[in-house]
Amino acid sequence: MTQLRIAVLSQNPELYSTRRIVEACRARNHDPIVIDPLRCYMNITSHQPRIYYREKALDDFDATIPRIGASVTFYGCAVLRQFEMMGVYSLNESVAITRSRDKLRSLQLLSKKGIGLPITGFANSTKMTDNLIDLVGGPPLVIKLLEGTQGVGVVLAETRKAAESVIEAFRGLKANFMVQEFIKEAAGADIRCFVIGDKVVASMKRQAPDGEFRSNLHRGGSASVIKITPEERSTAVRAARVMGLNVAGVDILRGSHGPLVMEVNSSPGLEGIENATGKDVAGLMVHFIEKNAKPGKTRTRGRG
Ligand code: ADP
Ligand code: MG
Repeated sequence: MTQLRIAVLSQNPELYSTRRIVEACRARNHDPIVIDPLRCYMNITSHQPRIYYREKALDDFDATIPRIGASVTFYGCAVLRQFEMMGVYSLNESVAITRSRDKLRSLQLLSKKGIGLPITGFANSTKMTDNLIDLVGGPPLVIKLLEGTQGVGVVLAETRKAAESVIEAFRGLKANFMVQEFIKEAAGADIRCFVIGDKVVASMKRQAPDGEFRSNLHRGGSASVIKITPEERSTAVRAARVMGLNVAGVDILRGSHGPLVMEVNSSPGLEGIENATGKDVAGLMVHFIEKNAKPGKTRTRGRG
């Protein structure tokens, strides 16, 4: 295998996931460098588009591994897109990341492809609160901010009154949110499927602590290994493909009629999944790049 120069786009080299990716690149004799996308600047020209970092032009990269934080999606994706315009292969493409960061847009695309989803409503007008609540089958229901992560901005409203107050509060803050049927039978658990290419390479069950319905590990959820069903496996792979992501963390609720996709993450964390399963997920990501990175092979090149 020829050595690849790999740009890991991350704001923090100390993060577990970033460290593991760098380690996995080195273990396979590649040449990784961590680049903070916020410290890059670029020149957008038709002749020779470039990216500069610490006064130097970044060139000769074979691939990028984007690990762009949710709070810096806009600029991070602009930098990633610039790499793509230069013909550098990206493990996840900028358009796919932008798409997946908007929960509503994601669900619309997934629904079009017939993937199981919790019933979800969205409205702009304050006059439609009642209709929204009825649309998802009445309380209990879940209200979530469109751009939240790690469980922040996800609220369970057990009564119609509670739902009305939360919706009113979010509206007052001019926040975009959606209203979703509460999947009670999931019992505070969800399944994280880590997809690379067309395979689920690792999966774990996350269980919320007592008294909490959100299973996010950042909210005190606990992870354990789980055997997923063939239907869950194919749902996760299809969801990642619909979003256009080569690497994705697909979160699934076990509904009484089958798997329901809650969200598709474009920078799934490695710490929880590697610790729960003992698998070298970072190594598998690098392996995928080895198989797929060829100069100019970024599909978005020139399309954005
Ligand atoms: P975030 O992006 O903040 O992680 P999620 O949509 O993944 O937001 O929701 C956080 C957690 O809340 C999920 O992992 C799940 O445990 C729980 N949850 C979210 N939506 C529902 C739902 N419709 N029914 C039951 N539980 C839900
Ligand atoms: Mg989540």
